[in-house]
Amino acid sequence: MAKQSVEEMTNRILDLPEGDRIVVMAPVIERQKGTQKRLTDNYMKEGFTRAYLDGEMILLEEMPELDKNKNHDLFIVIDRLIIKEGLRSRLYDSLELATKIALGKARVLVNDKEMISFSQNYSCGSTDFTIPELEPRLFSFNTPIGACPYCNGLGVKMEISEMLIVDPTRSLNDGGLLPYKNNDTDNLSSQELEHMCKQYNIDMNVPIVELTKDDMKKVFYGTSDPIHIRLKSSSGRIHEKVAKYEGLIVNLTRRYRETTSEWIRSWIENFMTDSECPVCHGARLNEAALSVKIGGFNMDQLTRLSIDDTITFLQNVKLNREQQQIAKLALQEIISRLTFLQDVGLGYLTLARTAGTLSGGEAQRIRLATQIGSKLTGVLYVLDEPSIGL
Ligand SMILES: [Zn+2]
Repeated sequence: MAKQSVEEMTNRILDLPEGDRIVVMAPVIERQKGTQKRLTDNYMKEGFTRAYLDGEMILLEEMPELDKNKNHDLFIVIDRLIIKEGLRSRLYDSLELATKIALGKARVLVNDKEMISFSQNYSCGSTDFTIPELEPRLFSFNTPIGACPYCNGLGVKMEISEMLIVDPTRSLNDGGLLPYKNNDTDNLSSQELEHMCKQYNIDMNVPIVELTKDDMKKVFYGTSDPIHIRLKSSSGRIHEKVAKYEGLIVNLTRRYRETTSEWIRSWIENFMTDSECPVCHGARLNEAALSVKIGGFNMDQLTRLSIDDTITFLQNVKLNREQQQIAKLALQEIISRLTFLQDVGLGYLTLARTAGTLSGGEAQRIRLATQIGSKLTGVLYVLDEPSIGL
């Protein structure tokens, strides 16, 4: 992926041989289905007359009816030019207009055959996947810009666990579903469950372990077909409805999300486990942040290396001269901080280790490394029974 400024696009085009004919275009539709009638009408109203439709130059007013089930490319023609002296400012303006219309993208057709693509975004040529401006907070799971949207940057997702909500040795009628254990039989959820079981011939009096997977799937995740439910409230009122059975896990998950009661929330948490986030797989960052790599490693992969390996990696990372200039200070700083950790014997840790899992000694050594790193002088450290490696 690469991004270019309008200035860089202009320079690239001015490198073409004199006399080349170019067409500056704004790619407003790329591989999209639809007739695009409204869109083209709008461009016509704005004064554009030509377009490049699926590889052919056309007049917008003669635009053919598009097959709405096929993918189309439609580039609005901004300007037609011939490469020669003194072209820079007009070319710059045209490219700038193209990128404004096509959200950062521009196309230039050279001599009716070669197509050059430009983009101001970090974007992949073949898909719409784009990365926002690269800035430090993109790489932090503590900001909404960098965090995985599914787990909000936690790397784990709290989910209701099938294991934690059943006692497999008991039956549905005998408190086998732990969240319903203390319910009376006239409780509404219990009544709904009873209707569902009757409808699908699920035996409520055998231990849960003897029920089929399919039966339990209905109990946990509900039914796809509506069932007739007749509920009797404690005051004796009858309420009938035809609805899908919601399922215990679906119900608890929904209530966990919707409740404002701290008590209900912590009660439901009894039935939940932390499982790895299925979207980021514990990396805690979003797709955009994870697709930025240095030396083949993204942020997550890098922090999973041991500190020893990270130092070796950073010392040997291949950079071109421009990248070296940009990265020099940052690399120096990172390597020097990591070396402090190595010096106090913690080179085997990874940067992804959570603070809570460190031993007391490890935590103390990290504190020591921080202090040494801040280059304090005139401080005497008294180390009581230092262990090997210090
Ligand atoms: Zn995630």
